[in-house]
Amino acid sequence: MNVCIIGAGYVGLTTAAVLAKLGHTVHCIDENEQKIAALQRGEIPIYEPRLAELFTDHQSRLFFHHDGQKHIQEADVIFICVGTPPDVKGKPDVSYVNRAIDMLIPHVNDHQTLVMKSTVPIGTNERIYERLKNEGKHVRVVSNPEFLREGSAIYDSFHPDRIVIGLRDDDDRSLSIMQTLYAGIHAPYVVTSLSGAEMIKYAANAFLATKISFINEMARLCDTYGVEVVDVAKGIGLDGRIGPHFLQAGIGYGGSCFPKDVTALIQMAYEQMVRPYMLEATKAVNDTQINWYVQKMKRTLGELAGRRIAVLGIAFKPNTDDIRESPAVLLITKLHAHGADVIAHDPKATLPHDVAVKQAKTIDEAVKKADALIVATDWDAYKQLNWEEVKRMMNGNAVIDGRNSLPREAIINAGLHYIGVGRR
Ligand code: NAD
Repeated sequence: MNVCIIGAGYVGLTTAAVLAKLGHTVHCIDENEQKIAALQRGEIPIYEPRLAELFTDHQSRLFFHHDGQKHIQEADVIFICVGTPPDVKGKPDVSYVNRAIDMLIPHVNDHQTLVMKSTVPIGTNERIYERLKNEGKHVRVVSNPEFLREGSAIYDSFHPDRIVIGLRDDDDRSLSIMQTLYAGIHAPYVVTSLSGAEMIKYAANAFLATKISFINEMARLCDTYGVEVVDVAKGIGLDGRIGPHFLQAGIGYGGSCFPKDVTALIQMAYEQMVRPYMLEATKAVNDTQINWYVQKMKRTLGELAGRRIAVLGIAFKPNTDDIRESPAVLLITKLHAHGADVIAHDPKATLPHDVAVKQAKTIDEAVKKADALIVATDWDAYKQLNWEEVKRMMNGNAVIDGRNSLPREAIINAGLHYIGVGRR
């Protein structure tokens, strides 16, 4: 098929690579000229494992444009993968989606299928359909929310747990078009209404965020009772009704999706006069997790002012360079505000310009002479550190495991003081 993708970000580029591997011809259009110029030179503007390899292998079917009217007109399927960041009130800003539709309207025709991959508020796709119809464009509109995880986006796209397809009741063509497009990817299809698909996306992210906040609240209790939260997570996670995933206590969830989607669902509930008690609690736990953790550090380390603290990890999770809503960045900012002399490191991510903290080029540079070391993002490189070497380089001996992912025994055996989240 001939596919056009609007928005060449994490979702757009991953979708492009996957569809090209499945044999389709893909034209990506992005309003960011610099990004398109880089992609045309063969440079990939984001770090995502396996993405570069797929782009190289399928370059004959992958094209990038700043202005792609001709390709929009010739496409069988047009994907919308633009951002929907939160506005000042926390509601999703759909202006990028609206701008994409404005740009498409003069060029689309009745034979085409418009597929929404962006996470959009309930009712958006129905409104887009009506808007196109009012402009005399009888384009089929499909809601096909994206569930990939940054850091394993390519694997997730080829092995999804499910493919959710939202359709209008009178649409009897789009399901088979989507099945042809995704032929080669084996997953159960969940077919529902346009709004149903939009709701599934928000509900999935809200549930996962709730699991994280739940175990973080248990970790706070475990800390006070001297109980191992890791044992608790295992003990409940082996119950098939609960499941083991997303039960790793830590400094909280972040990224471009969970915080924004939980807040968006809360706002949508308020608009419908429904009080979202659970979602409010999920957000409240997460919003206070860093402060709670900084207080814990103060109790253990004493005053933070003037202490040299190495923070390992800047990205919101390992295997990505994405720092949007990263709890690691928030932690770095808070420690800096407490007067700590912070030095940060990350294998791929860079600190935002407005954070006046030094970023070390190597782990050694960050760790050298540190009074305390915090692992804020669980990159493999940090889990595999030589802790005796770390002990020799540090001034102090506190190792704070913000993700409960470090080898506690090895750290203690090296003569360091291990502090986890909800761990004895
Ligand atoms: P992103 O910010 O990485 O990329 C968005 C791209 O769209 C940017 O390159 C931007 O320049 C471009 N763009 C914006 N408006 C445009 C327009 N009118 N015309 C052309 N290009 C335009 O965003 P992302 O992380 O890829 O997320 C995209 C959507 O997918 C969001 O709604 C997000 O919530 C959802 N989503 C993201 C993830 C994820 O892990 N990143 C996972 C699932 C769903």
